[in-house]
Amino acid sequence: MEKPLSGRLPDKTARHCFSATFNFPGFPGRRRHGRPAFLLHHRYIDDPQPTSRSMTALTPQMDASFRPTIWRRWLNLPFRSLLREWRFSGVRWNLPRILNLIQILLSLSISRIIRRPVVWGIPPLLMIEPTNLCNLKCPMCPSGNGTMTRPRGKLDIRWYLKLLDEIGDRLIQIQLWNQGEPFIHHQLLHLIRHAKRKGIMVITSTNGHFLHRDEQVKALVRSGLSKLIFSLDGTHPDTYARYRVGGNFHRVLEGLRRLVRIRRELRSATPIIELQFLVLRYNQQEIARLIRLGRQLGIDRIVLKSVQIYSREQAETFLPDDPRFNRYRWKSPEVFLKGRLPDWCKRLWLNPAINWDGSFSPCCFDKDAQWAVGNLFREGQPFVKLWKSPAFQQFRVLVLSRRREISICRNCTEGLPQPYTYVVELS
Ligand code: SF4
Repeated sequence: MEKPLSGRLPDKTARHCFSATFNFPGFPGRRRHGRPAFLLHHRYIDDPQPTSRSMTALTPQMDASFRPTIWRRWLNLPFRSLLREWRFSGVRWNLPRILNLIQILLSLSISRIIRRPVVWGIPPLLMIEPTNLCNLKCPMCPSGNGTMTRPRGKLDIRWYLKLLDEIGDRLIQIQLWNQGEPFIHHQLLHLIRHAKRKGIMVITSTNGHFLHRDEQVKALVRSGLSKLIFSLDGTHPDTYARYRVGGNFHRVLEGLRRLVRIRRELRSATPIIELQFLVLRYNQQEIARLIRLGRQLGIDRIVLKSVQIYSREQAETFLPDDPRFNRYRWKSPEVFLKGRLPDWCKRLWLNPAINWDGSFSPCCFDKDAQWAVGNLFREGQPFVKLWKSPAFQQFRVLVLSRRREISICRNCTEGLPQPYTYVVELS
């Protein structure tokens, strides 16, 4: 019996809780229309200025004919974007990092085969929340709409340094965001620099309201940040402000222009600048304009992302008509995710989340830390102890056997057959 989304889950949603690296159908498996599949999935039907890299429109028919292969399910990565990120990641490949990666991938594979959690090594990717405070009031974000129940605050850099000392030599990537606006943390640049010194790739995300001074942006570029994700869900001030309540469209564009200019002046290839656009009912017609705007601004990449909803009311208000950007289906009167959700989740091995107060969540979908397996800072426990704790193992067992019984896992993109992001590489 399928469990509907509405009526069981709190009225809230993610703003942008994970990297576009996951779940993109870009693995070059089969060839269609004479081109590898991964090229097709970097296209968009309304792209007004086709380039040599952008010759084929992604049509609904292609989407319908897309069937994820086992390779895609496992690797599910944007091939070209991945190569680019690899090139500019700045990761220092030392022996502990390589061995840890082998260990964790091996334990992930074995767990998948035997359907029991085996954990060797630590996660190579880690989301760390600098703060859950935010300057905007986005209607579907728990931080912005006030439905978040956990306390508000900022990460204490002393705990962060302690964590880096413990596991920094094995981490490959730190994602400095979760809920809230990372740039509200007054020591964000220090957080980035400390991780870079350890040879870790660092990415962060912003609503774009905090890049108003040249000096500050220069420091950001010099910090070695590998990628900066800008949320921009509209190409007009009106459509933008409909979701980013309290935001200033012109200020975001100004920040973007400043960053592009300063990065060029400093002759730096990083940070990679990515625009993230939540495709909503009232902005779905703006995608062509968005791509033009992205080219004009000189940004590197646009990621079109389907929105996560938590209630029927939100579905009626926000879900777009275009099925490519809608991960839900109606089964009147309820809303469900499209496709069957497998009893499986690679994030439980690769990418957990640590909130600003030290609560250790299995993943970023756990907005209120209701499934947190412990608190790293309060209990002063080593990371590895919580990572392999009975509480975390139990959660893994539950996901491997009865994922649909976990509220957060019923409304999550992990393992969805349909892509939930489309990447348009612009430079
Ligand atoms: S399946 Fe569950 S644990 Fe895995 S990412 Fe989704 S919500 Fe998180």
